[in-house]
Amino acid sequence: MRAHSRFSVSRLAVRIALLAAAALVLSLVGRAEPPQQAAQSAPPQTAPAAPQKSFVIVGADVADGSGEPLVQESVRVVGDRIVRVGNFVPDAGETVMHADGLVLAPGFIDTHNHSGPGLETDRLAESQISQGLTTLLLGQDGSSPWPIGEWLDKFRKDPAALNVMMLVGHATVRRLVMGDDFRRPATLEEIAHMAALVDQGMREGAVGLSSGLEYEVGSYSATEEVVAMARVAGKYGGFYISHIRDEADRSFEAMHELLEIGREGELPVQNTHIKLGTVGVWYRAAEVATMYDAARHAGQDVTADCYPYDAWHSNFKVLVPNKKYDDPASVSKAIDDVGGPQNLLITDFEPHPEYQGHTLADAAKTRGITPTQLLIEIIRDGDGGVIGHTMTEQDMRVFYAQPWVMVSSDGGIGMKHPRGAGTYPRVLGRLVREWHWLTLPEAVRRMTSLPAWRLKLHDRGLVKEGMVADLTLFDPRTVIDRSTFAEPQKLSEGIEKVYVSGVLVWDHDHATGAKPGKVLPK
Ligand SMILES: [Zn+2]
Repeated sequence: MRAHSRFSVSRLAVRIALLAAAALVLSLVGRAEPPQQAAQSAPPQTAPAAPQKSFVIVGADVADGSGEPLVQESVRVVGDRIVRVGNFVPDAGETVMHADGLVLAPGFIDTHNHSGPGLETDRLAESQISQGLTTLLLGQDGSSPWPIGEWLDKFRKDPAALNVMMLVGHATVRRLVMGDDFRRPATLEEIAHMAALVDQGMREGAVGLSSGLEYEVGSYSATEEVVAMARVAGKYGGFYISHIRDEADRSFEAMHELLEIGREGELPVQNTHIKLGTVGVWYRAAEVATMYDAARHAGQDVTADCYPYDAWHSNFKVLVPNKKYDDPASVSKAIDDVGGPQNLLITDFEPHPEYQGHTLADAAKTRGITPTQLLIEIIRDGDGGVIGHTMTEQDMRVFYAQPWVMVSSDGGIGMKHPRGAGTYPRVLGRLVREWHWLTLPEAVRRMTSLPAWRLKLHDRGLVKEGMVADLTLFDPRTVIDRSTFAEPQKLSEGIEKVYVSGVLVWDHDHATGAKPGKVLPK
């Protein structure tokens, strides 16, 4: 319950404030102001007279982000832009970076990242830039900071090492409107208020709507409510990215709902961290692909993103979709559905910190009770964090075989799952080099131009003249993740240099301290 207690203002006061906000929103919409331009402070500029810094990277094999084969080319960067790509000789006196044997790629773009809270105190984001990441999309799973404009302004005034983007969180808006009384469908009036708040978030700089319909607050929403909010995001050119309503036995229903929200809301949709998480739906990834392909062929814009691990990280409640948390039959079925209590690793449980790092099976054994009894107790006593080893590698491989599936981490600063620090090097080192699931240029495309296209970042995601110089230079022979479930924070290896807007932020094994990150898209 601690997540709910911060809303101490009375519902009446909230409502009055919201009505006023909605009125303001409507008046602003009426005047069709450009989104948030006036309120933004100008990004820091170099003095106009100073010559722009220039350098040339020579000898690298360029994976330009398009998926085309590697080509050894030189790349010149002036200021924050790539100005020349090809076979040319650097000018006399020009700074040259020799990169023989390395691959030069666009900076990686993560469409599902949870570094928002971590960035507040860790602007250098070492665990992120050390993976080659240069842009993070935050505000995921239905949860975003509020007000969004204020949050983004903090990162304009005091930037991070890498670029940030924000989504409007469906659950965040739902709580703002419904307060603690959210365990029911919203009324039409409430939905109108939510839509007005989504409108506000989009005008303040968000690029879409996120939802976490499997989680507590989002799970009570009707499809129509989400459609009403998605339509507003779509009006601003935004997309809808969803942790869908069920990633277990009812995955297919939840995927159909995602498609329906896209059609009815008239906007692109993305099935984030796509997975099949229970025994009942294992090995059905090909069916998922067929279903989404059919929608795509019918003209719907649908994509997905996938993290390269067969284990998820969430809370225990998501295991019990019927919410009968104290019903032994329901809880016992939940444990069976994921293949047994040995597949559930406890990462956090405040009343019993000693459970951390133990499976539900082991912790129950130590206590001398059944796993079902322990799970009932954990949820009753405030719920805890859990890593579920409940996906199959076979399904993951089928997902990654789809050209519309991008790489994402669902990770972030301080995460207790190895994906937080290891996702991108893991794809390059294991899925590409060791397992041959993807070619290197194709893997790079899924990390760069594909997410850039989804996020409408038209001048990023490719190594091409005129594009912003967000670049990642890595050693294809050594790049690898080092983070594990036991040591989730361990930094990756083999990412040699990372540039954000032409500025070096990561150098072999350390952050340079530079913080050129921008709030995107503008
Ligand atoms: Zn999620």
